[in-house]
Amino acid sequence: KCNLSKGARIRPGNDIDNTLDLWSRSDVQTCMPWGAPVIWEGTFDARQYDEYYRKRNVTVGLTVFAVGKYLDVFLETFLITAEWYFMIGHNVIYYVFTDQPNKVPKVPLANKRLLRIIPVSRHQRWQDVSMLRMKSISEVIDIFVSREAQYLFCMDVDQFFEGRFGVETLSDSVAQMHSWFYHRFSIFYSYDRNPKSAAYMGLGEGDLYYHAAVFGGTWQKVKHIVDSCYQGIWTDKQNNVEALWHDESHLNKYFWLHKPSKVLSPEYCWDDVLGTQKDIFISRLSWAKKQYEVVREK
Ligand code: UDP
Ligand code: MN
Repeated sequence: KCNLSKGARIRPGNDIDNTLDLWSRSDVQTCMPWGAPVIWEGTFDARQYDEYYRKRNVTVGLTVFAVGKYLDVFLETFLITAEWYFMIGHNVIYYVFTDQPNKVPKVPLANKRLLRIIPVSRHQRWQDVSMLRMKSISEVIDIFVSREAQYLFCMDVDQFFEGRFGVETLSDSVAQMHSWFYHRFSIFYSYDRNPKSAAYMGLGEGDLYYHAAVFGGTWQKVKHIVDSCYQGIWTDKQNNVEALWHDESHLNKYFWLHKPSKVLSPEYCWDDVLGTQKDIFISRLSWAKKQYEVVREK
């Protein structure tokens, strides 16, 4: 099913085509052992993907949280750049979760795109804001997403788009390679190593270190992802433990137990601090510079 000898081209519909051709990459891992493609520049034909999903009139949801200072600092840039690069030409629904609904910037949206504001309460600790996203996303899937979109992406707000983030990313369940870890040996992955946490992973476990700033899939799969992660987070709270990297630790545990059907290369969530890398031809979504003392006030 999967070409492990590298260089497979990825196509819409069946997702893997082992014919080596102009579009393939041989310098990077393009496929996971269970058959999931890894999406890199040069492994897909954007026009073919756009045509395939245009015919199906696909609608893609995008959740983003902007609570407290994160609204002032990051939300407008996130939305403006999403209008430039995220799923251009397709139906898009933004779900903006915030504690300050009337401060959401009025970013002009293109045709076929709309934005829903979801009021949420503000938790004291930033760790809780981050972790409890899982529960709010689950509720919004029930109320809105399941009625109006086929796919859903969930993203951090402290980033901006600067290259195509298109329908080539759509699949049942989608995980993001973490840009800091993709060149490192798995012993360095920062999984949760505390046996008391539901997110615990033993040495030798895990496939990749995934970044919680981007995940997605069909709404049904995303529902399962967020419910499972929230279950782990809730169990930890009962036991008075907190996973090392909060929701990200639980997400990594989830994707170890339930393999993603597609993996996004670090192009899809790049940290410019890492500088120029010979296998990164394009940065599509980039980490915003974050002044922790400004955004994480008590
Ligand atoms: N967030 C928020 N307000 C907060 C803390 C977090 O809106 O006070 C949201 C925001 O979308 C942010 C995400 O939760 O991008 C994850 O938190 P953060 O980006 O600070 O985590 P990091 O990327 O540093 O692990
Ligand atoms: Mn972040």
